[in-house]
Parts: sequence; structure tokens; C-alpha cells
Amino acid sequence: MATEAGKPLSSARPAARVHSLLVETRERVEFKDITGILQDLVTESGVQSGTCFVFVPHTTAAILFNENDDPALQKDLDAFLKQLAPSDKSYHHNDGNCDAHLKAAVIGNSKALLVENGRLILGRWQGVFLCEFDGPRRRALRVKVVAD
Ligand code: ZN
Repeated sequence: MATEAGKPLSSARPAARVHSLLVETRERVEFKDITGILQDLVTESGVQSGTCFVFVPHTTAAILFNENDDPALQKDLDAFLKQLAPSDKSYHHNDGNCDAHLKAAVIGNSKALLVENGRLILGRWQGVFLCEFDGPRRRALRVKVVAD
């Protein structure tokens, strides 16, 4: 609904804003579970039904959905990505972190999650990870929760 001036009528719809967070990583390669951080932002937003956008503004970090039950899987992810982009290979981009750029490119810098009944929709075994490929560093994280 809209007023005659074309402005929406006030409603209980929560205002969306971009949250800026800092996440510390401790290893060169690390898969940091940020599911709880995101759920807290959704809860704080008051959004019951909508979308949660997650973005890392970095070229050597990424956002991944995967199993967060067995920590051993992270070792396999690391080994798999090392096969794709070995750190000791000769690259054109030779500042020593090309493997990290390539791993981040494969996984991607952003994801969207659906929100229903105030909860992120995730599979039983799924979690959201900030992937660090050139740490340890302090990584920025941008999150926006938008109501339907
Ligand atoms: Zn680089």
C-alpha cells in the first residue's frame, strides 16, 4: 500500500541496514563457523520472513555453506582446495598469495540465506563459514537482513 504521495504507509516492517562486523582468523587457512553470528543478527533485526545477505569484501576470503557437524571435513576441504590451487606453484600474480585468491574465487564472496519464522533456513547439517585463505587476519563481514 502507498499514500497519495507515493510513500509507503508506516508498518511494522523492520528497517534493513547493513551490519559491519570484524572477524578474527588465527590460521592461514581456516573455516570459521559464523552461523551463530548471522542468526543473532536475524534475531536482533526482528525479521520473521525475509533474506539474509552475507558478503566478505576481501579477495582472499569467501563464504561457504557446508557441514558444520564434523570438524574433520574442514581438513578435507583444505586438502581439496590445495589440489586445485597449490601454494608452491608458479603463478603470474606473484605476491605469494595467488593460491588464496583462486580458492576465494572458486567459493565466492557472498551468499544469500532465507529467513522463516525468525530463523535462518539451513539443512540439518549445514552451517555458514567464513573461509580464510590468507590469514591470520582481521576480516570484515557485511550482513543485511531484509524483510519480505
Ligand atoms: Zn595477491
